Amino acid sequence: MEISEKLRILSDAAKYDVACTSSGLDRSGERGSIGNSAAGGICHTFTSDGRCVSLLKVLQSNACAYDCQYCINRRSNGDVMRSTFTSRELADLTIQFYRRNYIEGLFLSSAVIGNADNTMEQMIVTLRLLREEYRFRGYIHAKAIPGADAQLVEQLGLLADRMSVNIELPSEVSLNALAPNKPKGSILQPMRQISEESKNSRELTVRTPGAITRFEPPRQRFAPAGQSTQMIVGATAEPDVQILRLTEAMYKKYSLKRVFFSAYIPVQDREGLPALTSSPPLLREHRLYQADWLLRFYGFTSEELLNDDDPNFNQALDPKCHWALHHMEHFPVEINTAPLEVLLRVPGLGVTGCNRIVSARRAKSLDYDDLPKMRISLKRCQYFITCKGKQRDGLRTHPDAIMRGLMSEEAVKRSYLPDTVQLSLFDSTEYQKCLTGQI
Ligand code: SF4
Repeated sequence: MEISEKLRILSDAAKYDVACTSSGLDRSGERGSIGNSAAGGICHTFTSDGRCVSLLKVLQSNACAYDCQYCINRRSNGDVMRSTFTSRELADLTIQFYRRNYIEGLFLSSAVIGNADNTMEQMIVTLRLLREEYRFRGYIHAKAIPGADAQLVEQLGLLADRMSVNIELPSEVSLNALAPNKPKGSILQPMRQISEESKNSRELTVRTPGAITRFEPPRQRFAPAGQSTQMIVGATAEPDVQILRLTEAMYKKYSLKRVFFSAYIPVQDREGLPALTSSPPLLREHRLYQADWLLRFYGFTSEELLNDDDPNFNQALDPKCHWALHHMEHFPVEINTAPLEVLLRVPGLGVTGCNRIVSARRAKSLDYDDLPKMRISLKRCQYFITCKGKQRDGLRTHPDAIMRGLMSEEAVKRSYLPDTVQLSLFDSTEYQKCLTGQI
């Protein structure tokens, strides 16, 4: 098979993996090497499915020995063409693309080629060729294969900048039902190993920076950009609260840089999976990303945002509004005196806006007119704040009015006019009613 055909198949097969983001790692070029990596993020491009891609995102192989029911590459799917890159082909291709300035790095994943160890060995050879033969210093993100030997995980981590192991589904029950070859332990074990080895490697660098530079080239650090994971949302019945609890636990336990959510794209008609005709739950995916942001940057916990009595977000609202409407006892807050951590919980106020408020109020007491001047919109926050002890003039505080004010225009249309359809010009009865003035 032509390399270009392999590339078409294996880069298309990789589009279901969303764990692709800026590198989080600064590494400059070096004499005798090629490539560098910037923490500010490698420039982004977009694949045919609209996902952000800054790297050559490709599978080593899509000929999978496993049979995960949510995956297009599963063994039992006879509808996909199968292909496998040799390590030499993939390394050469990456370097050629790099030299042509098409890419700045590589995102390498793979289906299971026979077994987990064999797959990891082939991926390691690919990365070795890149790092050692081509002396490539660009960013590499590599997926560890669940169930692979710990020594192979270690070798891969010493070659890659970021690693990830997909958690796949939000519960062990779902994993057992849909991905029987990937028991929970086989996913968490490499996650734990990556977290520990990455931490040890970082500590060593911090303690003895000179020693690291002298005795080990920088690429020998273990996954210096940390690890991430990906969870499929909407393939199984777990509510948002379960997804958020797991997300929070993984951040704490395995020091993940990111948890990526991937709206399930139906790949087969099977009992227990959404129908082939159903759409990927993109809005739910978006709300979970917003909630993830609240966990990481706004000081919320998963238990505050949702609980067993209120297990799912109202998708018409962003998660902070959802929380605020359930906790009106915390509001209104006075914009001139509230501590930063309290301001951060006000719907419509972001980190930048809160910092602007805190710094501006040192100079003067703020009023409603001052906020738009600081590029802070009153649309949402007006229901939850006071300025100089007063609520905004004419503010409607009926729960329905607040709810409507917090929703986007699109969400308002969707929930208030759910069954509205365009009048057909060709429906004779309706047409006559128009002419006679009945409509
Ligand atoms: S291991 Fe499972 S998820 Fe990964 S490629 Fe194979 S079938 Fe797909």
